[in-house]
Amino acid sequence: EVTEEASVGTDGGRWSHTPDLGIFHAQTDVHGNVVVPEDRIRAALVYAADPERMRRELDLALGQAWDDELEPLRHAGAGAGESAPNVDPYTGLTVRHLKGRYKLQDFSILRTLGTGSFGRVHLVRSVHNQRFYAIKVLRKQHVVKMKQVEHVNNEHLVLSMIRHPFLVNLWGTFQDPTFLYLVMDFVPGGELFSLLRQSRRFPPKVAKFYISEVALAIDFLHMHNIIYRDLKPENILIGADGHLKLIDFGFAKVTAQTNGMCWTLCGTPDYLAPEVIRAKGYNASVDWWSVGVLLFEMLAGYPPFYTEDGNPIKLYEKIIAGHVNYPSFFEPGAKDLLQSLLTADLSKRFGNLHRGSRDIFAHMWFAEIDWECLYRKEIPAPYIPNINMDGDASKFERYPENDLSEYERPDAPDEYPHLFPDF
Ligand code: AMP
Repeated sequence: EVTEEASVGTDGGRWSHTPDLGIFHAQTDVHGNVVVPEDRIRAALVYAADPERMRRELDLALGQAWDDELEPLRHAGAGAGESAPNVDPYTGLTVRHLKGRYKLQDFSILRTLGTGSFGRVHLVRSVHNQRFYAIKVLRKQHVVKMKQVEHVNNEHLVLSMIRHPFLVNLWGTFQDPTFLYLVMDFVPGGELFSLLRQSRRFPPKVAKFYISEVALAIDFLHMHNIIYRDLKPENILIGADGHLKLIDFGFAKVTAQTNGMCWTLCGTPDYLAPEVIRAKGYNASVDWWSVGVLLFEMLAGYPPFYTEDGNPIKLYEKIIAGHVNYPSFFEPGAKDLLQSLLTADLSKRFGNLHRGSRDIFAHMWFAEIDWECLYRKEIPAPYIPNINMDGDASKFERYPENDLSEYERPDAPDEYPHLFPDF
């Protein structure tokens, strides 16, 4: 049963089952039909939240970009435009109605920037204002088969609420009978993942800068009752100015109605907190755990629970056992902070104590960080990507291009007319 489901869209994937933990796990080197280079493989996770009917979630990556400096696309758009603002009672954020503002003919598609589990992201150029954007295209059928309808709609909701210097922004969405489209800013500096692999590891000051920007972004989400749930260097892009943008809100979730709790086992294995694996319910502090994993990976060049053979079962066992080997070159302050983040004991984990995220921001390792300046992007970034001109996508790997003629076929039958009402 699982094998059959597993084969959807993950041609050639490897699968395993962890009965003790009730987890099915997929490790695949093929997303859609596009081969992901070896060094980019991060296992996708399959979960079994409901023992009666195994459900699973694959790593859905969706990125958005927003540059406050950029003006919105100005043209007579396809749709009704932005209607009156509507404040979400659970997050206190304004939900922007971005539905149907554009159509594909508003853009020329230039190349593929990346592929996720359900679609691909294209670099596009507006035919109206000549600016560059990234458009994520999701095949509805794929989203439905992978049981990601709720996540895609969740993601769209979260993205239409957030605006923050270190979170990517969504300009608008539209759909045709076959695909969903999300128009985001193009973030040209490539993935933090690529920079980290090229550099092997970051000097402490560089890691401190990046983790500080990430921490502000995560804290912003938490203040609005949103858990991010998929922090990893692949989901962090570098802007032209060297500052970070978190993309991919595929697992982000508004938790106000559930008192801050979540039960779905999702995320990326190396970054999963032990309480997520145990599947007994968890809260926003899973993001602070993954901030710890990310900081460790930036400083060491490998994640803290790394297994030589990539065996996911061993990985989960290591995470649950909670033993971390701190390299001797880690600064004592960094190690101290990491120990407070990478602790399975929720009554000790920073971010989860009565002072909340203040324990993290006030930690001695961050003593030199002026958080206000950081938020205003006044602290110079350690690395400015070498971007030749607007629309330069040389920081992104090349992917085989797809047949664009499938997009926007208005006459194709829409098998899922009611599933994505807000696009
Ligand atoms: P996703 O499916 O969201 O993970 O996107 C796949 C890949 O496309 C990402 O890993 C990025 O390399 C790239 N990407 C996604 N969003 C953007 C964006 N807004 N700007 C530039 N590249 C992006």
